[in-house]
Amino acid sequence: MDLFEYQARDLFEAYAVPVLKGVVATTPAEAEAAVVELGTPVVVVKAQVKVGGRGKAGGVKLAKSPAEAAEKASEILGMDIKGHTVNKVMVAQGASIAEEYYFSILLDRANRSHLAMCSKEGGMDIETLAKERPEALAKVHLDATVGINEEVATQILTAAGFTADEQPALVPVLVKLWEVYAKEDATLVEVNPLVKVASGEIIALDGKVSLDDNAAFRHPQHAELKDISAEDPLESKAKAAGLNYVRLEGEVGIIGNGAGLVMSTLDVVAYAGEKYGVHPANFLDIGGGASAEVMAKGLEIILGDEQVRSCLVNVFGGITACDQVAAGVIGALELLGDNATKPIVVRLDGNKVEEGRQILMEANHPLVTMVETMDGAAAKAAELAQA
Ligand code: GDP
Ligand code: MN
Repeated sequence: MDLFEYQARDLFEAYAVPVLKGVVATTPAEAEAAVVELGTPVVVVKAQVKVGGRGKAGGVKLAKSPAEAAEKASEILGMDIKGHTVNKVMVAQGASIAEEYYFSILLDRANRSHLAMCSKEGGMDIETLAKERPEALAKVHLDATVGINEEVATQILTAAGFTADEQPALVPVLVKLWEVYAKEDATLVEVNPLVKVASGEIIALDGKVSLDDNAAFRHPQHAELKDISAEDPLESKAKAAGLNYVRLEGEVGIIGNGAGLVMSTLDVVAYAGEKYGVHPANFLDIGGGASAEVMAKGLEIILGDEQVRSCLVNVFGGITACDQVAAGVIGALELLGDNATKPIVVRLDGNKVEEGRQILMEANHPLVTMVETMDGAAAKAAELAQA
């Protein structure tokens, strides 16, 4: 998950990385009020979008009065920056910049290590710098068990060409940025520019942070950082219900147990769908416990997708036996009541398959069709989904 700049700023502040105050605004009036709160003669109005190069695109503007901040905010709000609409700005205290540096820590997957990058020439696009003047960008591989302590920070700064005089102010900042990276389970912490201001202080003026979603269980507070407005509402709903769901652009909803089975079901439905011009609508793995509630949640989400015209439930009974799954499907239909309106094709195999089929047969629900083979079930679901 990528963070907005203001979220990165907050995170930096929590780790005592020097930052300037910033206030988020969604309207020009809020931006105007923010200036009063910040209390500096100059403020910077910055577009909050998860994409780089905002400055060049006109998304970072200085303002010298509350009225001017409102004006700049009205110019920036609603702007399109590389396909991202600006819904929020951060009004930040202005810095009197003496020098702009670059510093980042990232997960270097190719080398199976963490990498620190540092340059005295920050502010500009780092890809351009890396290409045109690679010697100006120091790259130092980090030992994960050590990270960045004072000694490593000194090595990095020396490699980047900072003099012994310049290093003491920067060392603690690099050490703290490593703490952010390590303790928050980030895969990227980038500060561009890391500035020296007129007084000589070092300040992280911009921040880009990506958090490792695989470590989310260790950081319950990260959930609050999610940009819900940018998420697919059905995906959010599925996630809240603890389901592993990915929405696709098709018409045949798919529910299966086990990621492997769901993946192959997608393939089989895609193949069967060619004849009817239909495609799989989603990936949904209900995992091991196919209880009525889990099945109901899954069906509710899939049937709630307007594009979906039929649903295929493909389950191979293992630990969860087919009779439980069948009972789950029928129970789900009861729970959904009138909200269930689309045809459901069920294919069961494996543990207690006979008992499962018996349950479906006895229930004889008008929306449910039972098909014995996976290919046959996919073909039936595709046929039912044709326009
Ligand atoms: P980016 O273009 O998305 O990386 O946005 P940045 O936050 O890095 O800002 C771009 C540039 O705007 C910086 O490199 C600075 O040159 C300038 N800038 C940002 N904040 C300030 C500030 O407080 N004072 C001054 N004078 N310039 C700033
Ligand atoms: Mn920047």
